[in-house]
Amino acid sequence: MRGRVVSIWVSVCIVLLSQSIRAEWFSRDGTVMGTTARVEIWTVDSAQAQSLIELAFKELRRIDQLLSPYRPASELSQVNQSAGDSAGVQISPEFFHLLQRALAFSVETTGRFDITFASVGHRYNFRDKTRPTVEEMPPLLDAIDYRHVQLLTASSQVILRHPKTRIDLGGIAKGYAVERAASLLRRQGVQHAQVTAGGDTRFIGDRRGRPWRVGIRDPRQEGATVAVLPLVDEAMSTSGDYERFFIEDGQRYHHIINPKTGLSATGVQSVTVIGPDATVTDALSTSVFVMGIDQGLRLINNRSDYEAVVVGHTGGLFFSNGLSKQTD
Ligand code: ADP
Ligand code: MG
Repeated sequence: MRGRVVSIWVSVCIVLLSQSIRAEWFSRDGTVMGTTARVEIWTVDSAQAQSLIELAFKELRRIDQLLSPYRPASELSQVNQSAGDSAGVQISPEFFHLLQRALAFSVETTGRFDITFASVGHRYNFRDKTRPTVEEMPPLLDAIDYRHVQLLTASSQVILRHPKTRIDLGGIAKGYAVERAASLLRRQGVQHAQVTAGGDTRFIGDRRGRPWRVGIRDPRQEGATVAVLPLVDEAMSTSGDYERFFIEDGQRYHHIINPKTGLSATGVQSVTVIGPDATVTDALSTSVFVMGIDQGLRLINNRSDYEAVVVGHTGGLFFSNGLSKQTD
């Protein structure tokens, strides 16, 4: 009799335990902004989890519609279509503010981060393995200059002063989107979650009592990692030359463009930046990629809240000051 009570009790405990384990983490993957997005969230109630995950995805999709260069109706496309017009295009305060932030990164990086890279960048097609020809390049290079983007604060208008100038927020938009989606979740009381779009992730809290452990991918060996970072309530962005690229005559053409040359940036294989704001980690990872190891790490070391791990062009690892102290 006593044995039966114990075994029933044990069964009840197992059922309860398995239910609480099932109730722990909920996640969904989807395609947003041309890349894989993932929302993972800890909550006890499955129905609530699904509505919170949907809230996050909705926000990612909303920002995609605002900023996509591939959707002719997006605000960004409308601005691009107006290049060379002397009249300004009226844009939403949200887009206006993000343009201000992007231009501030151009000033800080002396033009290495520059959303007008797209004047040349949009001529690359990594799927078709095509790129601008040497003859096409000079007039397009003239169109790359963040100072061609004029913001009229009083009327919330933007003017692209050069007819061939095109803008693309691909270097900052995913970070902005995951930051926004995560902050919506936090406002709903979520304490443990991650929101990822491509190489940009915003973590909320920890992974229930332990840090999130995030691997930095080996840029030349899929599935291998070169370092693992323990993160709590932080953002992380990686820019790599292995996501969108093709190789022609032994040369790698990839999606991060040096605005001075119109060619893919050389010198590093990947850059990972961590810090409190995913919009910033995203813009900084692209910036450091273009600036290279020395200048790039100097940029990071000037910001006390941000750290970086760079994989150099022969695979060596380089750390910003805050991380090298930890790894000494
Ligand atoms: P991912 O898009 O894989 O997250 P990144 O954050 O490194 O990668 O951003 C790369 C994207 O940034 C490119 O696809 C392009 O849209 C944009 N970009 C490329 N070169 C520059 C640049 N010099 N300045 C600003 N944005 C850039
Ligand atoms: Mg970036």
